[in-house]
Amino acid sequence: MENSPSDYPSDETKSLARERCQSAKWQNFYLTPKECIDGRTDHEIFGVPGGDAGLLVATIATYEKMTGRPLDKKQIIAVLDKYIDLIAHNNFYFHTDNHAHELPDNQEAQTDNIGCGHLKEVLKNPEKYQTRKEITGAILTELYTRAKQTPSQKKSNPIKLTTLTSNHDEIAVIIIENTDNDQAPAIKPNLNGQKMFVYHAGVAKEIIKKIADNAPDLFKANSTTKFEYKKIDEFESQLTELFNQQTMATVEELAINKNTQQPLPIYKVSITRDKQNNNQINF
Ligand SMILES: [Zn+2]
Ligand SMILES: [Zn+2]
Repeated sequence: MENSPSDYPSDETKSLARERCQSAKWQNFYLTPKECIDGRTDHEIFGVPGGDAGLLVATIATYEKMTGRPLDKKQIIAVLDKYIDLIAHNNFYFHTDNHAHELPDNQEAQTDNIGCGHLKEVLKNPEKYQTRKEITGAILTELYTRAKQTPSQKKSNPIKLTTLTSNHDEIAVIIIENTDNDQAPAIKPNLNGQKMFVYHAGVAKEIIKKIADNAPDLFKANSTTKFEYKKIDEFESQLTELFNQQTMATVEELAINKNTQQPLPIYKVSITRDKQNNNQINF
């Protein structure tokens, strides 16, 4: 029998969240792919909505908003390639699930083909997410196509498409707020079949900083005038604001107790290591 959120009183849910954080594994968050906040992943992750693909889509939307110049498909793909190289270190994560319909050859990705709850919401609600559907569509179509051309398991393919299975029956949201230099505590969203959304807010903040620093290179092929240096700070604050709004919109939509229709409990946590390298959890 599957657990449902209502089976857990909130103090029990909190101690289950604590247990997950206790076994957090510290890793370099620049070199590790950012996976989705989706609660179905059963190994330690750094979670951001949509994973690397979610951050990339928000990055392009921010550029368009700041410059007033919508990018065409070719330009969007050029940014994807730069992102894979400069930000994702040739290890770019996106995912679907076993409920989504496989994308047929030579077709544009539609909501049916998307197994990521966040990216599906972004594609469905361009106004709410302040992201043209052409951006999300072009990125996903290209990612699916490339993942199909070279199997994700092959080292030569920098794009890792993961297909998540089972159902959404998350019982809570954990937000990990801190980082320590280039390290952060990676968490298992799915522990023995019991699921929680995991969002690494502190990691997202640092990656956004890195994206902003690299913005002149990411958008090189698209700028008629050079992306001005002084705009890097503005890019960082605009992308931060947009990605926060998008994250909140997705959490509001997806992190719901399906029985009561109430929002799931959200735990903001910071995890530090003591001298013995044991994790200290602070709610
Ligand atoms: Zn993974
Ligand atoms: Zn997802």
